[in-house]
Amino acid sequence: MLTTIFLFAACNEGKKTDKETIADDIDYTTFEYKVDRFADIEILRYPVSGFNSLSLQQKELIYYLSQAALEGRDILWDQHNRYNLTIRRVCEGLYENYMGDKSTDDWKNFETYLKQIWMANGIHHHYSEDKIMPQFSQEYFITIVKSVDPGRMPFRDGMAADETLNEIIPVMFDPALMPKRMSQAQGSDIVQTSAVNFYEGVTQKEVENFYNSMKDSNDETPVSYGLNSKVIKENGEIVEKVWKLGGMYDKAIDRIIVWLEKASAVAENEHQKDIIDTLIEFYRSGSLQTFDDYSVKWVKDTDSRIDFINGFIETYTDPMGLKGSWESIVNFKSIEASKRTTIISDNAQWFEDNSPIDNRFKKEEVKGVSAKVITVAMLGGDTYPATPIGINLPNADWIRRDHGSKSVTIDNITFAYDRASEGNGFKEEFMWSDNEVKLSKKYGTLTDNLHTDLHECLGHGSGKLLPGISTDVLQAYASPLEETRADLFALYYLADPKLVELGLLPDNDAYKAEYYSYIMNGAMTQLTRIQPGKDIEQAHMRNRATISNWIIEKGKEDNIVTFEKRDDKTYIVINDYDKVRSLFGELLSEVQRIKSEGDFEAGKALIETYGVKVNKDIHNEVLSRYESLDIAPYKGFVNPVYKLITDDNGNVTDVTVSYNESYVNQQMRYSKQYSVLPLKN
Ligand code: ZN
Repeated sequence: MLTTIFLFAACNEGKKTDKETIADDIDYTTFEYKVDRFADIEILRYPVSGFNSLSLQQKELIYYLSQAALEGRDILWDQHNRYNLTIRRVCEGLYENYMGDKSTDDWKNFETYLKQIWMANGIHHHYSEDKIMPQFSQEYFITIVKSVDPGRMPFRDGMAADETLNEIIPVMFDPALMPKRMSQAQGSDIVQTSAVNFYEGVTQKEVENFYNSMKDSNDETPVSYGLNSKVIKENGEIVEKVWKLGGMYDKAIDRIIVWLEKASAVAENEHQKDIIDTLIEFYRSGSLQTFDDYSVKWVKDTDSRIDFINGFIETYTDPMGLKGSWESIVNFKSIEASKRTTIISDNAQWFEDNSPIDNRFKKEEVKGVSAKVITVAMLGGDTYPATPIGINLPNADWIRRDHGSKSVTIDNITFAYDRASEGNGFKEEFMWSDNEVKLSKKYGTLTDNLHTDLHECLGHGSGKLLPGISTDVLQAYASPLEETRADLFALYYLADPKLVELGLLPDNDAYKAEYYSYIMNGAMTQLTRIQPGKDIEQAHMRNRATISNWIIEKGKEDNIVTFEKRDDKTYIVINDYDKVRSLFGELLSEVQRIKSEGDFEAGKALIETYGVKVNKDIHNEVLSRYESLDIAPYKGFVNPVYKLITDDNGNVTDVTVSYNESYVNQQMRYSKQYSVLPLKN
């Protein structure tokens, strides 16, 4: 599992490059990064640096791929929960048509709720997976729904207001019903207790048996079983409803195909055209074999300037780790910034050979690690509004083994994050002294970027499984362990003199900036995203907590890393950076062993001991210090708006990009323009 360009995972948050060096017509000093703020969310805007310098054909290609990226939005909503589309459309109907008093707290809380579910693509928080509880009453909601002309509301065919309300009210308001989008609670039936719409009327055991019976342990190139379907019981039999043309999500997939066909016609080259055509074929047939063909072709395309992900990609939201959430990213290569990742991938074998892991787990030959820095032009599905900053795809182990993977760092998103967070006081509040603040200001952006590059283009691709071992055996711990492995690989090498030698870092102190912020974040500041009393659930957060807490425990004996108090505030203090590096190496070796051998018990113990539970005192302290800074713990993005310009004969003469749309207007527009699925699927 990874971060994708086909999108695998979304790894870090935060970095930047010097945009001013790119010649284009965006004025970065007046660009408005901040768009909206509500609940625990801030919505930002990203500049598409360099778009106007692309050729007309390239711009047209981006336009069509972007349309395809937006057409899948409702698929993701429905995947997250089968009541999501109904709830969203009723809320949007209210938002547009309610004529009553809009100055009340109730109405304002209703607006916030709608903004929250847009951000999460459903009624469960995008990060914590907890159901978002409305801050207005059920009675208020019923009253305002009934005050609107039913003809203006999206009640399902023949379904009266009462019937719709009876269906969605408990889902929205009862905290005990579908409380978690994805449940990971050990000992519970994670299929039945998860609110996702990947399974209906089946148990975890039934799903396990169903897919285990398909697997052939001698198959060296297995398809990604279950990636594109919902599992249901029909006449007592377990069956898959496949997401394809003519199958589940037919209407949305039909529209995606229409745009992909237009994209195919303006592809940059034959290879790229073949990739798009194979993807269309996959959407038509639903064949996972075809999806693998497509992924292999896609991973081999390193020449095209424009690239994209579109499909059922990441499996983080499925408790069983099988079902791909629909997502899309349209992007183009950032030529200048990609020089950095080229150096890294050119030296991939050196990094593999010198890694502190057991030789049995090393790849003799690292294949096709292609890495680049990209500029995102459009986000869709699971990458919108919350987006990854790095991606490494495809996810299929055998394709990575035989054909390599593509890894990207997303430049303009991290640039926007950094710009929006300037001067917010965060570093001064949480770092131990001026030294750490200075280090961070001097090297933080660079080392943070480099961390993502190493994580994506080397970390995920490094190491190998022993024969006969599959990642599936690690179950719910597979994702956090994989992210842990990739992060440790990056952290270990950040301090290697080789990076200075390769010209990637200016000196042997730079890495300290990343070491300090990483541990501070993993052990303390990332807790700002956790509500009091809750455990850590999200895979990347579990990974960061595991690494940081493990390092602190091992490092306290020799005073390598400690918690210190000053004025009643807790800080991380690193006394010996060299030894921290050795500890990273030690843990990397162990995590690689766990993965390579499929040691479920050891993996579980590591994550459960260090990555799940939260120290209550530190948590409360961090929350109150953070609150005083008034920073939103989560960020999302609005997309730019592209317009096709045509002449009198209908020929495309240009594609323009603009950045004026508000969050609300964009969401409402998407819900009108790109919403063809029935309320329930
Ligand atoms: Zn990752």
